[in-house]
Amino acid sequence: MSAAGPQRVRRLNMQQGFTHTIDGKGEGSAASFEVINPATGVAFALCPDATHEQLDRAVAAARRAFVAWRKLPLQQRCDALRAFGAAVRTRVDEIAVLLTREQGKPLQRAKEEVLRALVNLDGILATRLETEVVRDDARGRAELQHHPLGVIGAITPWNVPVLLAMPKIAQALVTGNAIVLKPSPYTPLTTLLLGEIAREHFPPGVVNILAGGNAFGGWMTEHPGIDKISFTGSVATGKRVMASAAATLKRVTLELGGNDAAIVLDDVDVKAIAPKLFWASFGNSGQICQAIKRLYVHDAVYDELCAALVAIAGTVKVGEGFEDGVLIGPVQNRMQYERVLELLADTKRQPGVRILCGGDALPRPGYFIAPTIVADIAEGTRLVDEEPFGPVLPVIRFHDVDDAIRRANDSRFGLAGSVWSADEARAKAAAEQLEVGTAWVNHHLGVEPDLPFGGFKESGIGREYGADGLRHYSEIRVVSRPIIPARPAVGQGAKA
Ligand code: NAD
Repeated sequence: MSAAGPQRVRRLNMQQGFTHTIDGKGEGSAASFEVINPATGVAFALCPDATHEQLDRAVAAARRAFVAWRKLPLQQRCDALRAFGAAVRTRVDEIAVLLTREQGKPLQRAKEEVLRALVNLDGILATRLETEVVRDDARGRAELQHHPLGVIGAITPWNVPVLLAMPKIAQALVTGNAIVLKPSPYTPLTTLLLGEIAREHFPPGVVNILAGGNAFGGWMTEHPGIDKISFTGSVATGKRVMASAAATLKRVTLELGGNDAAIVLDDVDVKAIAPKLFWASFGNSGQICQAIKRLYVHDAVYDELCAALVAIAGTVKVGEGFEDGVLIGPVQNRMQYERVLELLADTKRQPGVRILCGGDALPRPGYFIAPTIVADIAEGTRLVDEEPFGPVLPVIRFHDVDDAIRRANDSRFGLAGSVWSADEARAKAAAEQLEVGTAWVNHHLGVEPDLPFGGFKESGIGREYGADGLRHYSEIRVVSRPIIPARPAVGQGAKA
């Protein structure tokens, strides 16, 4: 493995036996890397580190498998995906334990992630991408057919690895493509486990899952045998993916970072909405692309809402995901932990800013940061302008709704956002002005399988989920049958 991932090691006293899925079979690699439990900072497993030669074989297998897979009736492809989902369901507890160990989230949340992935799988299977008749008149008949692209290269991050792998597999396969999927080197094991289960349910080569580092992702984006990259991760990497994919004109879907604003108007019931706002910000330790990362609050309710959020933070148990009652786990990896601490150090240097709670790492092993709420902060600081991706929430004061909307939109991100008010019509009117892929009214967070999800601006390109999502796994073919006017018979009408 290369670059930013954990170090390559060979230690035999750790959990082993994880394998890639290549051409329907389990396979190890000569090299491996450590997977670290973020609650302890200590490695607990070895993960095989795939080579370029293994990627070449996986891509070749996917190309072979694609030929027959795309010709299967849609119903049969759906049946195979449904059987795969049912098999995953029988192993939810096992996957959840591994997810807590590699990702850090509380065990109950890990279970919910796997179950949510299955709900989304069902939702994708219920979505149809129909052939569209766009012309049927005196000029003839023309229809738009959706043709699979071939081999999808899917690349996922470390925050919700199961939730992100499952829809990429489902959307690729239901539209008739084969897939080669690479999880983050920080959380590769649950995805390798999905591959192990997939072997039993799909023809060899249809689903290939290989673990590797950042360089492996680069090999995928430049590979001539891959037709499209479906990437979820940071803006910086997304730009690299797009540049690299340009060499072979691969299609790309980029689901990138967000710096979501929630705007709270002056008429809200603070007690009722505070828990919703808190969890939309601190769930998964703030490591959700569409978490609230900038909370704009009207002056009239600012102090009351800040106090309510701090009170909730005081009741929340932070700790290892297997401990009873824990609701917030660690930050997932050392790099991210150091980045969030660096943002906090910068925040403390800003004049007038108040840290209402938290503000520091917890004095224990692992990558724990106390849930932190920062008041009297504004744009122009790193905490507000950048995506923190950790348990830290800046609360920004405003007096005028139009001004709050303008400030919320003054960002290179545009993933999602929300507006909160006792008057739903008022909230909706404001939400409609947000420059984001998803604008919520009195709600924030969640991807639903029938609604296209993706970002404006640097938060991404393309959409996943819904019929729009499936369209991005397909190429449009126009089949047109013009009505050619009958030629006048010789001697009739036209002069020779
Ligand atoms: P990251 O961009 O560092 O890594 C994501 C994946 O890309 C990993 O598998 C990594 O190995 C791979 N990668 C790294 N360099 C690569 C390269 N040059 N070519 C190809 N692949 C490469 O992101 P991360 O730190 O793992 O995840 C956090 C980010 O993901 C946050 O910004 C978050 O907002 C974003 N995210 C977005 C969504 C969404 O749906 N929009 C969902 C979850 C997370």
